[in-house]
Amino acid sequence: MPSSASRPSLSRLGEFGLIRHLRRRFGRIGPSVLRGIGDDTAIVRAPAGRPLLLTTDLLVEGIHFDLSTATFEDIGYKAAVANLSDIAAMGGRPRHLLVAVAIPPTRTPEDIDRLYRGLMQACRRHGVELVGGDTSASRSGLFVSITLTGSIEAGRPLTRDGAGAGDLVYVTGTLGDSLAGLALLAGRPRRRPAAGTGTPERYRRFLIRRHLRPSPRIPEGRFLAVHRLATAAIDLSDGLSGDLAHVCEQSGVGAEIEASDLPLSPACRAYASEHGTDPVRLALTGGEDYELLFTVSPRNHATLTRLARRAGYRFTRIGTIRPRGFGLRVKLGNGTTRRLTIAGYVHFQRRRVAPEEALWSR
Ligand code: ADP
Ligand code: MG
Repeated sequence: MPSSASRPSLSRLGEFGLIRHLRRRFGRIGPSVLRGIGDDTAIVRAPAGRPLLLTTDLLVEGIHFDLSTATFEDIGYKAAVANLSDIAAMGGRPRHLLVAVAIPPTRTPEDIDRLYRGLMQACRRHGVELVGGDTSASRSGLFVSITLTGSIEAGRPLTRDGAGAGDLVYVTGTLGDSLAGLALLAGRPRRRPAAGTGTPERYRRFLIRRHLRPSPRIPEGRFLAVHRLATAAIDLSDGLSGDLAHVCEQSGVGAEIEASDLPLSPACRAYASEHGTDPVRLALTGGEDYELLFTVSPRNHATLTRLARRAGYRFTRIGTIRPRGFGLRVKLGNGTTRRLTIAGYVHFQRRRVAPEEALWSR
């Protein structure tokens, strides 16, 4: 954007001025794009005979994001990651991005530039190219719609419906960090704990970063697809309990999770102990970790362990797929078992179900 002295308003810049700016600044394209922003449609080269993945997300101000707590960069970044993570969960390589925005008159071109900066920061790391979109005015808040394509270049796509009783349940990375990071952000302005107490500053930074700048597990997803190691997979956007329930529903199975096996970062543990909360609860209910959950047949366990070690991936076994009648249960450290219910955002009720209210039912 031009310097603030000469910064034009959206109405002066106009729809086409804005598109020209976005094209110049973000529309850099590589060899798979024959036509990017500027024509009636984009033209891309599709991998011959290979599956093409398509995903889209609509983000609505006041429902999915709140401009009083997130910056435009944050919103763009997270919107991109949500879609990148969906491609990761299918085992694909993300390719081409389309972005439609409806902009209220109170927003400036600089705001939209920031939104795209966040988007493209997440996308460039994975070689994704912005090839088009749509632009409109809005009379009620900002709307951002993201469409992302991906390709499966080798192996087979990872779907939610292939888990069978006896399969082992794995996750990538650590769980619960994002929810802890969100709680830290929401607690602003923060009082500094007395020296030697509280969550160390480097842990706070780690958790907040895990919330604001999560990494979609693209290489791990591709690895699982290429080696045909997963019977089912999903990305953890709504929280382990809810997302595992999707896999179980679609696969027609139940599952048993070992609470003591859930991978927790030292930062998440420190946060939980400072705030008198159970880190297992953060791991089970926390959304937006953008880790992958996948299931593996026991006969592939040794191969997975060997190949993952060689590739340097952190996969943690957290439980076992059971027959459907078993339901969804978590075995706690003290040997007792609880039924898992789904916690997460309830859309048409405009609230987040509190973990306390929803997680446990006997
Ligand atoms: P049409 O009338 O055919 O929809 P537009 O004038 O809306 O064409 O768009 C012109 C070009 O600019 C198209 O290539 C379109 O994909 C691209 N474009 C429009 N809005 C955006 C946006 N917000 N982000 C990226 N590309 C955009
Ligand atoms: Mg258009």
